Amino acid sequence: MNAILFHQHGNIEVLEYRDFPTPQAGPGQVLVRLQVAALNHLDIWVRKGWPGLKLEYPHFPGADGAGEIAALGEGVTNWSIGERVVINPNLSCGTCEYCLAGMDNRCNDWGLLGETTRGTYAEFIAVSARNLLRIPRDFGVHEAATAALVFLTAWHSLIKRGQLKAGETVLIVGASGGVNLASLQIAKLGGARVIVVGSGPEKLALAESLGADHLIDRGQESSWSEVVFDITHKHGADIVVDNVGTTFPESFRAAARGGRILTVGNTGHPRVEIDNRYVFAKHLSLIGSTMGTHNDFRSVMDLVFKGRLKSILDQTFPLRDAGAAQSRLERGEQIGKITLEIS
Ligand SMILES: [Zn+2]
Repeated sequence: MNAILFHQHGNIEVLEYRDFPTPQAGPGQVLVRLQVAALNHLDIWVRKGWPGLKLEYPHFPGADGAGEIAALGEGVTNWSIGERVVINPNLSCGTCEYCLAGMDNRCNDWGLLGETTRGTYAEFIAVSARNLLRIPRDFGVHEAATAALVFLTAWHSLIKRGQLKAGETVLIVGASGGVNLASLQIAKLGGARVIVVGSGPEKLALAESLGADHLIDRGQESSWSEVVFDITHKHGADIVVDNVGTTFPESFRAAARGGRILTVGNTGHPRVEIDNRYVFAKHLSLIGSTMGTHNDFRSVMDLVFKGRLKSILDQTFPLRDAGAAQSRLERGEQIGKITLEIS
């Protein structure tokens, strides 16, 4: 099969389009013929590497993918060849104490497609049958693939960890990232009032089209926490979605008393300084999470399939041009999700 792979960390140049042996479906696994892979910032971080990340080379990037079933491994029932499926990229053992309690994103043997195993930038992938969901007949494969990681992550963070309630005010720091756009839609569906801080008219217009109630242009406002207090009549934001990290000081200021700061990553920098006075004096909670559970995946993808949450599609590139696709993401030029067309 053809795949995008790399043998060492580095810039775009390390990515190679190569022939590689097609994987086999092991016991409990299904072989999926991938039609689409969707890009995430994770793909770039894994290519560049970080201390402690150990990959089995050659490594394939890619957490998100959708396609059709090509073969069934031993013991797999309830699936047939040719069915269209989307993959849940959160890998778990299914037997540890966390998995048995339904918290499989805290699994003792936790993994993530494209990070701890070879990913979706390939014509085929073997994954556990537990990680598959059927794509309805009239639903697009690009829309399914691009929804998986971002909606799963945003759903677990806002609904399970953040306990979002109708009528609350949610501040989202950033208007372009996939998780932020998913969070915006989930917050609106949950009955919240949503404020988005972003830069650039095009990205803010997209946030508005997805239902944002208030837009703050970061380029025009030096202190967006003050604007949040004006908008909310000095109440502040009940929930702040901050996946930048370096913006924590401003997010802590923008939060209401008893506010929850939700984070699933750091597009800025992993190390930030926290002014503890805000934390105790305002009764703040800093709540982290990563990915989501099988239950979350079913719940949120059902809303995606029904059209109540929607994928925002940017450009599509052929698999062999994955380098150009990642460059576009790295430059931040995309509005919505970038995909790779595989077959
Ligand atoms: Zn487990």
